Amino acid sequence: MTLAVSGTLMQTPAPDRLTVADAVVEVDSTGAITAVHDRSTPEGAAAGQSALAAASERVELAPSTLLLPGLVDMHIHAPQWPQLGTGLDLPLERWLFEYTFPLEARYADHDFAAAVWDDMVPTLLAGGTTTAVYYSSNHLDATTSLARACARHGQRALVGRVAMDHPEGTPAWYRDATAAAGVDASARSIEAVAALRSPLVEPIITPRFTPACTDGLLQGLGELAEATGVRVQTHCAESDWHCGYAIERFGTSDPRALDRFGLLRPRTVLAHSDHLTDFEMAMAADRRAGVAHCPLSNSYFANAVFRVRQALAVGTGVGLGSDIAGGARPGLLGVCQDAVTVSRMLEDGVDPALGPAQRGVPDSRIDTVTAFWLATAGGASVVDLPVGLIEPGRRFDAMAVRLDRPGGLIRTWESIDDDARIFEKVVRLATADDISHVWVDGTSVKPGRFPVRDRRRQH
Ligand SMILES: [Zn+2]
Repeated sequence: MTLAVSGTLMQTPAPDRLTVADAVVEVDSTGAITAVHDRSTPEGAAAGQSALAAASERVELAPSTLLLPGLVDMHIHAPQWPQLGTGLDLPLERWLFEYTFPLEARYADHDFAAAVWDDMVPTLLAGGTTTAVYYSSNHLDATTSLARACARHGQRALVGRVAMDHPEGTPAWYRDATAAAGVDASARSIEAVAALRSPLVEPIITPRFTPACTDGLLQGLGELAEATGVRVQTHCAESDWHCGYAIERFGTSDPRALDRFGLLRPRTVLAHSDHLTDFEMAMAADRRAGVAHCPLSNSYFANAVFRVRQALAVGTGVGLGSDIAGGARPGLLGVCQDAVTVSRMLEDGVDPALGPAQRGVPDSRIDTVTAFWLATAGGASVVDLPVGLIEPGRRFDAMAVRLDRPGGLIRTWESIDDDARIFEKVVRLATADDISHVWVDGTSVKPGRFPVRDRRRQH
């Protein structure tokens, strides 16, 4: 079964570069992109026509529909899905104990976990999240069932059982009993996810964050990563409290402590990291670790805004994360807007009592092109997955966005809007309802209709 998709292809191969082409994309039976024909030349148009004729499945998008790469959400707490949109009134350390840990502990119940996964995964896919980097709960079975749900619904995912054992940083009713038990359960979770043999889903080693993990657990997980080559994700230098905690406990900063434990590795995802110094950004780049920038949750919990421009300037990999449910917005296009907005506030500053020269951090702003790059190619590069761009050799993870949906917010004006303006409108205004198609690995995965059920019924 081969696929050919024709339409206006917009994508961001670099943080400052938007490309637009009238294209035909050829996808082989495994889901790999084998060719992208640019129809602006007679040769390209002829090759595209041949590809469409030869494909066993053809999707010819209307001129009012754009083809874009699928979105890579670098940081999602899957078990927090039921609390999305609530409980953001407390500082991080209290939010965890009062809202989040009690909810996550419920995933010992397999039926509850499965019901959440079967609601969340299709919803995220419908919004264009073709790849998700998930924190699961502390439970082995719930984590395996999350991986299974991703495979079944067709979402590309990295799925990590959350390791946490610190007697002060976690409640007695929701933690690994010992460091050794935490390492062992993490190793078994890796095996269980790998045993699914899904081409879409891989495990990821997930120490929650340093305050939730003893030295023995952090050391053991660093050794597990070294032994298995499995990726790592953790929270890093998120808030004033988190940074102060690291200094007091380790006598050094949070990223340096992670480095000591062998957790700053190639493809490590460091969520937040908004308090990284210039040196620590360079250190992360040197270790080939990258950052999941979560702009909306930064606004609630981080006491700061991650400096995207400065990180990219020193070569640190950066992607974009929703941080569900610390960020109350599941669609990554909305998170692109948040990233642009907080960067503008970082640049200008927000305290009118200060003069303009003292108020902000110069040269911090990013635009929608950079934000979309973070949400696609940037994130894909951090975790080294062959997605994020529609080009030969990558997997066909993509979405189609309508510009003319009745009732939609996107308007285009022929005499006013050029391609760059249309792209900006899509990033700022498109919702899941405007996304007409979603493909992962060459397979159409956009749910036709959401399952109609009373979500309050059972739980
Ligand atoms: Zn998080």
